[in-house]
Amino acid sequence: MKHIETIIVGAGPCGLSAAIELEKNGLDYLVIEKGNIAQAIFNYPTHQTFFSSSEKLSIGDFPFITEAHKPKRNQALVYYREAVKHFDLNINTYEEVTSGRKENSRFILESSKGRYSCKYLIIATGYYGQPNALNVPGEHKAKVSHYFKEAHPFFNQNVLIIGGKNSSVDAAIELEKADSNVTVVYRQDAYSQSVKPWVLPQFDSLVKHEKINMHFSTDVKDIKNDSVVLEKNGETFEIVNDHVFAMIGYRPDYRFLQSLGIELNENEFGTAPYHNPGTMETNVNGLYIAGVIAAGNDANTIFIENGRFHGVRIADDIFRKEKES
Ligand SMILES: Cc1cc2nc3c(=O)[nH]c(=O)nc-3n(C[C@H](O)[C@H](O)[C@H](O)COP(=O)(O)OP(=O)(O)OC[C@H]3O[C@@H](n4cnc5c(N)ncnc54)[C@H](O)[C@@H]3O)c2cc1C
Repeated sequence: MKHIETIIVGAGPCGLSAAIELEKNGLDYLVIEKGNIAQAIFNYPTHQTFFSSSEKLSIGDFPFITEAHKPKRNQALVYYREAVKHFDLNINTYEEVTSGRKENSRFILESSKGRYSCKYLIIATGYYGQPNALNVPGEHKAKVSHYFKEAHPFFNQNVLIIGGKNSSVDAAIELEKADSNVTVVYRQDAYSQSVKPWVLPQFDSLVKHEKINMHFSTDVKDIKNDSVVLEKNGETFEIVNDHVFAMIGYRPDYRFLQSLGIELNENEFGTAPYHNPGTMETNVNGLYIAGVIAAGNDANTIFIENGRFHGVRIADDIFRKEKES
């Protein structure tokens, strides 16, 4: 078993940012990532433009300069690769942490490639790997996806998008451009407040011109092979359907957090892991969380923009503990 002082699980922007701060403080650390760095961003829609400016996506004060104010997915991928090279970060990629526990004052981690012990553990695993369930018949059919990449395969296809936030709106606009027959269903009776204000008018115009079929206050009841059953104001109706995008959000891997002893709190938005916001330490001594995972079910409160600063708080706390010990 290999001992490393601090292990960071997850090499998304927030895990990388924590690694940079540990590196700057001369602390011993290793990042373990199940995919490659910035895997969640790699999984974004291919042509995604960030809603944040490049400066607000930068980590470790390493400049992210783009000609346009808001960068595209590909530019961010280049940027995070360059940041890893610039800071010469210690990362094991394509290695999944499969379990963890605390034994005396050490954490023991099992991964797909080995066993580790560490004094400090930082969980920065995000939420993108665990899509929320629809809990309706047919949701596991091959035609149902929780991730949208590109519109081309859906040319001349009947596509249902479930959800009314940014991922749904962005996908609907892309699909309409590719001549898909797009229907969007949303449980709420109006557009979500979180939809990007510069995108909403474009989407709304497509709805008004009947290029996108929009159904508010509508639930999905059944996903059949060639159709979907919907319910609106107590009435059910069926529409023909080839593909479903269930863009209904994601949630952290709570089982992993709980197996490490992290307490989950209930707040007005649902579940969130307990942590001290000043240090990002959880109720387990030496165990920290970084990035969007700290938001629990309310992923709309932590993004790269603010989650990138968690690493500074964590590194300061570890540095202080080490000096005092
Ligand atoms: C389409 C889209 C557009 C967005 N645009 C913006 C934007 O403009 N601005 C903004 O600030 N935010 C934006 N976000 C949100 C942003 O992507 C997330 O807040 C951000 O990725 C969170 O970073 P993170 O490091 O906490 O987690 P992630 O980026 O999700 O990284 C977690 C990492 O952990 C790895 N991992 C998970 N489990 C394990 C395991 N068991 N073992 C090893 N590794 C593991 C994953 O592979 C992943 O690489 C957007 C999100 C989406 C979906």
